[in-house]
Amino acid sequence: MLLQHVMQGRENQMQKNNSSVLMASTLSDVFFHLKSVNNLQILGGCTYISSLDEKSLCVKFIDELSQIEKKERYIDFGPSVTLSQIIQIRRTNLPEVLYDALITMASESVRNLATFGGSICAADPKIMIWSPLLALDARLEIRNQSETKYIPFSKYTGIPKGFILTKIRIPIDDWDIQIFKRVGPSSKLNDLSAGFTFLASTQKDLITNVRITFSGNTVFRSTELENKIIGAHFPLTSKFIGDVVKTASSLLEKNQEYTKMQPILRQQFLNLIQYSLEQLT
Ligand SMILES: Cc1cc2nc3c(=O)[nH]c(=O)nc-3n(C[C@H](O)[C@H](O)[C@H](O)COP(=O)(O)OP(=O)(O)OC[C@H]3O[C@@H](n4cnc5c(N)ncnc54)[C@H](O)[C@@H]3O)c2cc1C
Repeated sequence: MLLQHVMQGRENQMQKNNSSVLMASTLSDVFFHLKSVNNLQILGGCTYISSLDEKSLCVKFIDELSQIEKKERYIDFGPSVTLSQIIQIRRTNLPEVLYDALITMASESVRNLATFGGSICAADPKIMIWSPLLALDARLEIRNQSETKYIPFSKYTGIPKGFILTKIRIPIDDWDIQIFKRVGPSSKLNDLSAGFTFLASTQKDLITNVRITFSGNTVFRSTELENKIIGAHFPLTSKFIGDVVKTASSLLEKNQEYTKMQPILRQQFLNLIQYSLEQLT
């Protein structure tokens, strides 16, 4: 963790080991530095990065990037909000799967430093919030001095050069069932780490909406699988559940991308789909 290094005083610029850390206090400062410094490394809580580049810019203490705003249909988070600050909002005021993912991440002391933005910009889908963000149809706002772009989380592959993440918008929908499960070791990340999210809405005896995501070394979301479940009537039979699991299994086999998935992760994913559907019966 590099925060201690970054925090040696809060001067505007610090130098150590041939690397300079700039401290930004406004978004305009950030845009100025992004424009004037080539290959500027952005720093959040510094829990993921392993070394400082020649020039880095800490964005953790910018007010505009540290806000949380809850509206009727969505919540906006600034990227400098820490994971602990989100947890403090409490489960009842957040999409439950987001809260459930956050409390599995690292230790309390790491969560006090790690930022929401850093956990997204690290561009590592093993990080537990990826699966709920994908299932909840989160949207990212990225900016440079002259342009603002909005990226659906399903299309996100990393922050383009010269841009900074400025907002994370999470829709608030009425889900009747929300399930998040972490697989792999606890409080650290490795190749067996992944997050699973299942969301379902129901009306009388009918499933009206479903989202299923799995995010580890590879990221899975399939509208084909979701459409197979939407419209199903209760009670779900074991044959129906078995057919859904078979469809998921063949989707994993068909797509080259999923061959990266360890066999144990594939099996855990299929078991979690079965488990989630059983909660609906
Ligand atoms: C001991 C330990 C245990 C952990 N255990 C878990 C775990 O159990 N589960 C889990 O999911 N994760 C775990 N993690 C990973 C943790 O989730 C990440 O380290 C954390 O979310 C990164 O946030 P950060 O603010 O520290 O990012 P940083 O390290 O500051 O930055 C990460 C990346 O994001 C970029 N960045 C940051 N903010 C912005 C921005 N606003 N715009 C553009 N780019 C930006 C940086 O340039 C960098 O590339 C663990 C980490 C540690 C150290």
